[in-house]
Amino acid sequence: MKGYMLIGGKRVFKSKEIEILFPYDNSVVGTIPDGDAEDVKLAVDVALKGFEKMKKLSAYDRYSILSKAARILSNRSYEIAELLTKEVGKTIRESMGEVGRAVNTLTLSAEEAKRIAGEEVNFEAAPGIKGKVGFYRRVPLGVIGCITPFNFPLNLTCHKVGPALAAGNSVVIKPSENTSLVVIRLAEILIEAGFPPEAVNVVTGYGEKAGDALVRDERVRMITFTGSVETGKIIMSRGGLKKYAMELGSNAGVYIDEDQSEKLEFIAEKVCRGGFALAGQVCISVQRVFVHDSLFDDFIEKAVEFAKTLKVGNPLDQTVDMGPVIDVQAADRIMEWINEAVSAGAKLVCGGKRVSDTVIEPTIVIDVPEDVRLFKGEIFGPVIAVNRVANVEEAIEKVNLSRYGLQAGIFTNDLKAAFKFAEEVEAGGIMINEIPTFRVDQMPYGGMKESGIGREGPSYAIEEMTEIKTICFDLS
Ligand code: NAP
Repeated sequence: MKGYMLIGGKRVFKSKEIEILFPYDNSVVGTIPDGDAEDVKLAVDVALKGFEKMKKLSAYDRYSILSKAARILSNRSYEIAELLTKEVGKTIRESMGEVGRAVNTLTLSAEEAKRIAGEEVNFEAAPGIKGKVGFYRRVPLGVIGCITPFNFPLNLTCHKVGPALAAGNSVVIKPSENTSLVVIRLAEILIEAGFPPEAVNVVTGYGEKAGDALVRDERVRMITFTGSVETGKIIMSRGGLKKYAMELGSNAGVYIDEDQSEKLEFIAEKVCRGGFALAGQVCISVQRVFVHDSLFDDFIEKAVEFAKTLKVGNPLDQTVDMGPVIDVQAADRIMEWINEAVSAGAKLVCGGKRVSDTVIEPTIVIDVPEDVRLFKGEIFGPVIAVNRVANVEEAIEKVNLSRYGLQAGIFTNDLKAAFKFAEEVEAGGIMINEIPTFRVDQMPYGGMKESGIGREGPSYAIEEMTEIKTICFDLS
């Protein structure tokens, strides 16, 4: 499959190309152009014209076009899901789930297009002011640069492009170089549905080259980024005066309280699903589990029992539960972190072996020291670290022992413990009697601490992607 950039609706090819590989067996899925600063400059030139065309669309037009795009995407679900599986390596069931969510994100964005409004400003509330009336409106920013990661290339791009277009902006998208083909399909669908071709542009290529040029372009009014903390920091240090939305990494923690013995099997299964979905490459994967001392052994027994039932292998096989990680380098790093934890005294109770270059068994490690990378960092692989705690106070302290703060969870029947956890854990989302991996696309979603800045979910993203213009009439 020969990929291309999409600039003003035109397919742009380059002699220098990047291969996209199926993570399961490294076979070639396709190629994309190795875009550079010149391509980004052209895309932003075009997107500025696209913004002018977007101004001619009414809120209802934008609602109708986004709704139509959602319908086209839904009609092409299986074809798009198959491409997702080939690019990302997620199972075909996971890919169908992502397409369904992307349809929902576009639909939510369409609905929000009709709700963008301001309110009256009471100018006469200031001393000595009479005869002034007015209001503020939310207006689009202009060109928005959307930089997206490899793990949910379709839905996370919809979380940026959907609200941006709903609010009347134009976009230049720089997808992950591993998973660009599906993003090109999405852009084509948005244009087919009726957006001006100049308003939806995709530049492919490496982050350090194409991504960097987009970040540095002064005409781009906002960078909405999802990816690692390290890349997020680089982007903010180079991009200068513009708005930023940063959806970054995490190492989510969950606590299982002492009163959960009757539900332990159910919780163990949920925790494993939250840790091993997409081979652990979810920003809110369950990574650190804290179990009350009295339930610890029982929990481990049930979690290991469930983890061993998961079928690992080719993600295109409908019966497979867990596929590979994105590439060999990622698998090398994950194995290194497991081995480091074990050398430091942690115990491996499930998995821990590499099935192939990129496939790692669902792995459970217990009694993990707090100074190893498996505890401190973001593993982004199919590995769960489980430690014992004495009570909710200690659980809160351990969950907070992290530079990240995206989401966290607690299983308890104790209302006071649940409330204390919700109040004191430093994270953007707290799930009570649910794993931290829970997300629906309309909720405000984003991180505290190094997990990010700003919130996604179409209505919240629209606030970030618009600015306030105040209009005042003198009637005196
Ligand atoms: P990444 O390496 O940070 O890359 C993300 C994107 O940034 C890619 O498109 C990448 O391009 C681009 N990029 C890299 N260097 C750049 C630069 N200097 N300037 C501009 N763009 C640059 O992240 P990833 O490995 O794809 O994704 C995994 C990370 O994303 C994890 O940390 C995960 O937690 C996080 N994530 C967060 C959320 C959330 O909502 N909070 C959701 C999903 C994932 P190339 O790929 O072409 O290098």
